Amino acid sequence: MFRAILVEKSDAGQAARLAEIEESALPAGDVLLAVQRSTLNYKDALAITGKAPVIRKFPMVPGIDGAGEVLESSHPSFRPGDRALVNGFGVGESHWGCLAARARLDGNWLLPVPSAFSATQAMAIGTAGYTAMLCVMALERHGVTPAQGEVLVTGAAGGVGSVAIALLSRLGFRVVASTGRVAEAPYLTALGAAEIVDRTVLSAPGKPLQKERWAGVVDSVGSQTLANALATTRYGGTVAACGLAGGMDLPASVAPFILRGVTLAGVDSVMAPMALRREAWARLAHDLDPARLASMTREVGLAEAIPVAADLLAGQVRGRVVVDTTR
Ligand code: NDP
Repeated sequence: MFRAILVEKSDAGQAARLAEIEESALPAGDVLLAVQRSTLNYKDALAITGKAPVIRKFPMVPGIDGAGEVLESSHPSFRPGDRALVNGFGVGESHWGCLAARARLDGNWLLPVPSAFSATQAMAIGTAGYTAMLCVMALERHGVTPAQGEVLVTGAAGGVGSVAIALLSRLGFRVVASTGRVAEAPYLTALGAAEIVDRTVLSAPGKPLQKERWAGVVDSVGSQTLANALATTRYGGTVAACGLAGGMDLPASVAPFILRGVTLAGVDSVMAPMALRREAWARLAHDLDPARLASMTREVGLAEAIPVAADLLAGQVRGRVVVDTTR
């Protein structure tokens, strides 16, 4: 038996609870993982609360990220005792996930935990942090450098935003953080933000082209915020879009693309190819300050993760939440 968060659906709706599950109930897979740590991402919070239809089949163990020790493996790349992690690939959506002490997974979804990181640090990064790294890599791929000017990070006090600030400042960028929680200015400054802007500046409807400011943008908010970010990006700049915390729409015009050569770079973590994942995790081991990672992270047990999921969607969680799946 092992403990897990279980999301079930009935006529009354969807509900999450802490459950004791038989190991024989785990889905098929060639690696059995003793999950040591998981985390709460935005998508996990949607799955636990049922606020959006993230879960494809019920009952479901949520948890898109996990890190731990391999217990059994018939996959050629993993042996018992190896440390492994998973991000995405439908885990916690269509395949039982890692908000549990055990997970049986496809070995092709797994990566070794980088030697620089403990399971706790790997999950403090989690999908949010690995996606922030993918966004930074997208800006770099399009030639954005610190010499070209300042960069904007939206949803700054959230998981993606916090890691993006720490990474970009470490890489020498002047980072401007957009947040709805200006009281978090000391936190954001300690992570490396040079300036804080109130998110209402970016979330109000604006003109298709506005004063040029950003060499690059990491946006986890979408909607009007993304439209304004595009409209204020400098000639030849790049906006990496990965999220929809403010909405899924994009009320923008083509003006920034055709008059300023702005690039809108889409970033997906769930089905990202293995080579890109390996590169992102290697870069995280190199470019993310462990002290800043610790400063943005708190840890909870499995039972506490259920109410914290609602807090996260209410915008009340700062930075990253690691879940200790052993308690
Ligand atoms: P968090 O909840 O940790 O952070 C989201 C932040 O967005 C909040 O902290 C808040 O920042 C801001 N925000 C929330 N609501 C609004 C709103 N209505 N208007 C404007 N800003 C708002 O989530 P994550 O960082 O984990 O994820 C952020 C987004 O990125 C989500 O939409 C998620 O689905 C997406 N994502 C996408 C991935 C991909 O593969 N493409 C992977 C990972 C995440 P503040 O308080 O500072 O304003």
